[in-house]
Amino acid sequence: MVATALKPRNATTDAERRTRKSLAACYRLLHRFRMTDTINTHIAARVPGAEDCFLINRYGLLFNEITASNLIAVDGAGRSFDGGEANPAGFVIHRAVFRARADAMCSLHTHTRAGIALSILKCGLLPLSQFALYFHGRIGYSDYKHVSGEGDECEEMGRDLAGNSALVLRNHGLLTVGRSIPEAWLLAYYLEKAADVQIAAMACGTELVRPADAEIAGMSKEVDEGFGGRPFGEREWEALVRELDREDPGYAA
Ligand SMILES: [Zn+2]
Repeated sequence: MVATALKPRNATTDAERRTRKSLAACYRLLHRFRMTDTINTHIAARVPGAEDCFLINRYGLLFNEITASNLIAVDGAGRSFDGGEANPAGFVIHRAVFRARADAMCSLHTHTRAGIALSILKCGLLPLSQFALYFHGRIGYSDYKHVSGEGDECEEMGRDLAGNSALVLRNHGLLTVGRSIPEAWLLAYYLEKAADVQIAAMACGTELVRPADAEIAGMSKEVDEGFGGRPFGEREWEALVRELDREDPGYAA
């Protein structure tokens, strides 16, 4: 379904070129932060101005091989504009997210050790670390389902995501959505840290301390309102992209 090639589109817009560069940077950051699973998992970003069409990795590439120009654009029927093939499961997962959430520009999925361990815990994410507080009242859970990439099998996932910033895919992994690529990235980074810290603390087998209820809601407001006058994730993103530009500039090609 996802291998069908459409005729190449006319020249891409400047907005799409910027999105391609940011999305390729995001793949490189997952690689740098060891949040990858060989060629699997995926990040998708809407093609600016093109309805029901998004950019995703060409299936088979390692994340440190992904560049702005080798990302592929697919439409809602799974047809590729660039002749490449998307991961079939990735296509249906991100299509479900974008169809469920008109405000989402980026959808990011991981299979990390800490993320999968968290997805197995019945208690889910607890408000224990400052990282976890970013997700207070804004995380959903979706029961395990084998995703083959056929049909609309992920529609339910879109419903489970509802208005949240993150979704725990039970026994599978994590997913974050952002109004921008930097937002989806920073949410994925913080959720990974939150999962890792919770697993480590619970493994100690001793009584855990949680913040006072009155303190729990403050961090999640930063996701909506940003921090220091900047949108959530933007400042961190600029710093990380400066590092990429110095040390791994090939992503922008
Ligand atoms: Zn997955």
